[in-house]
Amino acid sequence: MKTLFENVNIFDGTGSALFPGEVVVEDNCITAVSKGSGKIPRDGAEVVNGNGATLMPGLCEPHAHITYPNMLKLNELGDTPPEEHIFVTMHNAQTMLNAGFTSLYSAASSKLRTEVVVRNEINSGRIMGPRFRAASPEIVATGGLGDERQLHMYHQGIEIIADGKDELIKTIRTCIREGVDTIKINISGDNFVKVGHDGVCTYTAEEVKAAADEAHERGAWLSCHTRSDRSVRMALENKFRVLYHCEYSTDETLDMIEAVKDEVFIAPAIGANYRLAHHAEEWGITPEVAESMHLFKTIDLTIDTYQKMRKRGIRVMPGGDYGFIWNPIGTNARDFEYFVNLFGYQPAEVLSAATMLGGKIMDIPNLGLIKEGYLADILLVDGDPISDIAVLQDVDKIFMVMKDGQFCKDTKKLQTAA
Ligand SMILES: [Zn+2]
Repeated sequence: MKTLFENVNIFDGTGSALFPGEVVVEDNCITAVSKGSGKIPRDGAEVVNGNGATLMPGLCEPHAHITYPNMLKLNELGDTPPEEHIFVTMHNAQTMLNAGFTSLYSAASSKLRTEVVVRNEINSGRIMGPRFRAASPEIVATGGLGDERQLHMYHQGIEIIADGKDELIKTIRTCIREGVDTIKINISGDNFVKVGHDGVCTYTAEEVKAAADEAHERGAWLSCHTRSDRSVRMALENKFRVLYHCEYSTDETLDMIEAVKDEVFIAPAIGANYRLAHHAEEWGITPEVAESMHLFKTIDLTIDTYQKMRKRGIRVMPGGDYGFIWNPIGTNARDFEYFVNLFGYQPAEVLSAATMLGGKIMDIPNLGLIKEGYLADILLVDGDPISDIAVLQDVDKIFMVMKDGQFCKDTKKLQTAA
């Protein structure tokens, strides 16, 4: 199977300017990229006329939660029975693919096996979905972010509670036995559940070290919820691969991140807090409530920290914590606009983070660029995301999604465009 895309403007993922050109896909690989038109022989190829659309690499969400049922409260995760939860996750995978996200790096499953089985079904080709690195549930200390219990009544959210080195080690062993790719640990608290909690470490240094040693020994990747400065340092000291939030990082901690900037990925998840602060009034988050949750302060801190991270060349990725009612699954591309408007990113720069860095966080060496020899994860976009970054928020404008050389979206619009 050979497909030639003609009459397209190519964003190759490196951050370079768009250029008019042609791209050939054979089986699951990009086999030719040419500037200009007519230089590549058409022999045997199905030709797709892009009519001036932008052709770009598929997007990666580095902090995915596709077990989230677009909920109001974390409790809803525990309330969803496992059988329904598989379907929620499966449909969310399809929604993400339709929105142009061909890769998902999970930042926690809500039940231990939910993401593992959906990943396996996607990989087997039996259901459609993005490339997917499946995570453990959030591993949480008593009273940490995600501990939904009350003393008189058991509640379950997204968490596995593990206190002390022994429980942590056993929990990690269990998650790895069940097939997760990545272990998620909540090292700090969060204002979302308890105001003032974001500056607190909910695990001790000894607990974090024991957990990290076990995950490293068994070959699982580590990611973490780290808002407080000290939690970021603990994560760096124990070689966590992916750090989320980090907005309290001091300049000295930013030095530590910069020193390992080719080894770690950072994602602020700005969209989640921004939507909650500014677009969630109909669900009771009035400006007064947002203020009482310290959301405006957290957003200001995030802006300050990530402007600095950008200048230091740290690998920061857009996305994170979509799946609440105010930021539903599939609207993740809003984060690109926040990176531009709040952190000072150029559109090409944030899109390179969402594509080229996507290949790196997924740890697939030939993923994330439009380049000969790279895997064919490709979008056709009706518009120019470099001059209007918001165009990627319109799912209808992403009129072709190809993953691993397969067309994954209703191609009727493709034929209209042709
Ligand atoms: Zn998260």
